[in-house]
Amino acid sequence: MAVGVGHLGLANMRSRSVADWIIGILALALGCGDRPSAAPPPNIVLILCDDLGYGDLGCYGAKDIRTPHLDRMASEGTRFTDFSVVAPLCTPSRAALMTGRYPGRLGLATGVLRPGATNGLAAAEMTLAEAVKPRGYATGCIGKWHLGFRPGMRPTDQGFDSYFGVLHNLDKFETAHFDAEGGMPILRGDAVVERPADPAKMTSLYTQEALAFIDANRERPFFLYVGHQMPHLPFDASPAFKGKSARGLYGDVVEELDWSTGQILDRLRGLGLEKRTLVLFTSDNGPERNTPGTAAPLRGTKHTVFEGGLRVPLIAWWPGRVPAGRACEEFITALDLLPTCAGLVGQPLPVGLALDGHDMGAVLLGAEGVRSPRETLYALYGLNQHRRESIRLGRWKLHLGAPPQLYDLAADPGEARDVAGQHPDLVRQLELRAAGVRLETRIPEAMP
Ligand code: MG
Repeated sequence: MAVGVGHLGLANMRSRSVADWIIGILALALGCGDRPSAAPPPNIVLILCDDLGYGDLGCYGAKDIRTPHLDRMASEGTRFTDFSVVAPLCTPSRAALMTGRYPGRLGLATGVLRPGATNGLAAAEMTLAEAVKPRGYATGCIGKWHLGFRPGMRPTDQGFDSYFGVLHNLDKFETAHFDAEGGMPILRGDAVVERPADPAKMTSLYTQEALAFIDANRERPFFLYVGHQMPHLPFDASPAFKGKSARGLYGDVVEELDWSTGQILDRLRGLGLEKRTLVLFTSDNGPERNTPGTAAPLRGTKHTVFEGGLRVPLIAWWPGRVPAGRACEEFITALDLLPTCAGLVGQPLPVGLALDGHDMGAVLLGAEGVRSPRETLYALYGLNQHRRESIRLGRWKLHLGAPPQLYDLAADPGEARDVAGQHPDLVRQLELRAAGVRLETRIPEAMP
């Protein structure tokens, strides 16, 4: 085994105690150094915000929202600057994140599921929870689901041992469905524990549940998914956070999400689990139009396939494993989370499963010189007959249509200068690639 100490760096050496060094030398002598294969599989906590913008956190440039816990998480871990979801709205984005497959393959490409929906994520689809469960993981789902509501489509039907939360949005399109029954229910499993769900209470409720799950499963490997309702409309915060942010109520809500994440990280540290827990913090799509949410410096919002609709924050934290203080520019997507998590826990994926994600474990853990294997990302927005489509090829991004628009994201991440006229061959190549993804993932040429 070729393990040296040179790569550790002088600053790191100075900060280590003598005892640490003795333990380290013994570990190396015994052949159980910090090679990836030597570590036990990690706990995984995935925190998914709803409609949080690329520019809404201090560590992503926000000046008027204080996010000290997320900033610390980024300084102790890695902040990804080119992480994209697959669709700029809830259901297709979450379906892809949960399965590693394009939403067209799942029959969920073009809209959001409302409470009356009879369709949803098919039970046969493998979810993140089902990908880790064979390795003995306890699996908990807390928060918004939005992937099907009938029996057979709920979190506990999709590999989660437990569920607490609101399956839906809290906007009137969805709460109205429950008016006659006393309002939007909060469920534990299938049982109603409270109604109507109050937007101001959701972040603190979900935080309390997350801490209880971690406490209860501290002795065994666990996968915890926390799907916050916030800052999706109608956003609201606890009294302790109201009126505190320079960006008004929206900022208060994000500051409470920051607090919540700090509570989870503190609990992991308090239980001594920080060295064996990967925490991921991200969002399902960009900020809603006409709200104070921002994707700056990116163009566009939710409901668009500009970067502002698709590119969101992703912070990864796993002290000792995920490099600290790194900003990673590698291109990764929500499709990659399932194969990455499966790889980290050592669970082989079924042969023949048509996955659209790549195992990004080497990128996540910062192996030297490792580049993301991802080249393309096809994105579709198809709600309300307004079709918007884009495709990435590395730095290039084409918005399909007549005429098509081409942007060089490396030089122009704000998608301000259409260079389609200068690169007709590239435009054609990207159009063909998009046609291939459509065919492969069962997206019709025109909306029905
Ligand atoms: Mg959303």
